[in-house]
Amino acid sequence: MIRIYNSLTGKVEEFKPINEKEVKMYVCGSTVYNGMHIGNTRPIIFFDVVARFFKYLGYKVTYVSNFTDIDDKIIKKAKEEGVSEEEIANRYIKVILGTYKKLNILPHDANPRVTETMDDIVKFIQVLVDKKKAYIADGDVYFDVDCVSDYGTLSGQKLDDLIAGARVDENDKKHNPFDFNLWKETAEGVKWHTCFSDGRPGWHTECVVMINKILGSPIDIHGGGMDLKFPHHENERAQALAAYDNGLANYWIHTGWIGMDNVKMSKSLGNTIDADQLVTDLGYGVYRLALLSAPYRQMVNYQADLIQASKNQYDKISRAYMQLFRKLQISYGLVSPKADIKKCEYVKLNQEFIDALSDDFNISNAITALDKVIKEVNVATRQNNLTEDELVELYSLFYNMLWVLGIEPHIEALSEEELDLVRKWNEARINKDFALADNLRAEINNKGIIL
Ligand SMILES: [Zn+2]
Repeated sequence: MIRIYNSLTGKVEEFKPINEKEVKMYVCGSTVYNGMHIGNTRPIIFFDVVARFFKYLGYKVTYVSNFTDIDDKIIKKAKEEGVSEEEIANRYIKVILGTYKKLNILPHDANPRVTETMDDIVKFIQVLVDKKKAYIADGDVYFDVDCVSDYGTLSGQKLDDLIAGARVDENDKKHNPFDFNLWKETAEGVKWHTCFSDGRPGWHTECVVMINKILGSPIDIHGGGMDLKFPHHENERAQALAAYDNGLANYWIHTGWIGMDNVKMSKSLGNTIDADQLVTDLGYGVYRLALLSAPYRQMVNYQADLIQASKNQYDKISRAYMQLFRKLQISYGLVSPKADIKKCEYVKLNQEFIDALSDDFNISNAITALDKVIKEVNVATRQNNLTEDELVELYSLFYNMLWVLGIEPHIEALSEEELDLVRKWNEARINKDFALADNLRAEINNKGIIL
């Protein structure tokens, strides 16, 4: 049984997919006016592990994440550079997809853009207007939050409390200060001609339309960073309730912040770190381990000792993996990992790993199970205590766990010449010809072969 903390109910619940052994998930992506900072990558990495885990369990996963390519910030940047919004968007989508790749994120099934979805967005807004869930004020269209009795449920806030705590809204076109923009008439930047006005859509509508168009609503899992819960996700949900009579997603999952010295990283505070550069500097394995180190709803505090601990963890993993890979190649040739694991101890370790991730994605406990596998590997590579089948199973178990965490060490296979050298060294040691063994070992080291 998989249990998930559902932000909508504030409870850990049993995961029941809409269709058996199938998961439809959507994660809000970036607004493409610059590259990603480390905080933007946390949900992308976490939900990559979620998708991989469901795939490992045999689920069919369909995972969609959008690019917001229409936004005031994009328009501002385009104006500053004297280029089109499309050029800015294309540039940063390329950068972000490059960062995804460097981070070893499995390709999403779709990365829809607002500009490609505009016809559907306009039709959707018209539906809300026709249903009297939205109203036109001059050339703008607003969603009427009072028409959704459930408004505030996701963020755990009552509308009355929100209104009491709100600053006075200067915009007197709105019936309620929490009514939000579905369409705005604009004088500046790229715009679309509609019966409302010449303008562009508000931010909260695109995801609702993309989800319904590509996946069909409701979906199983809707994810994003904690800061999207209100107003973005609350407003997405309100529109789906109004238009489709469903709450858009059955499970809402939100990841915590990245902090530096316990202060949230944000562009406005100027304490962010460029993700693309950092993943290049650290390597994706260390980067992923660092961001997966804390429970996913809590803050990851980015600091030197976290990076050091993640480097140590990664070194331990890659050293053990390399030694097992080499041992297998030297003794039995190149082997492929297999899905079917029978040895009792390994079945138990695999189950421990699955149980940890089934418990609201407890990655720390999953890594504890991985550590136990590393211990087995370290014993097996020092001693000849395992049969060929057992070694292949251990390798498969190790490979599978790492795959779920998105860590896939690439090890160059030894050439025939290198294998021959290693075999001769092993023979010399068995024959207790230590002088020859030392010479061969020196040659192995000189060739940069790591055993
Ligand atoms: Zn969204």
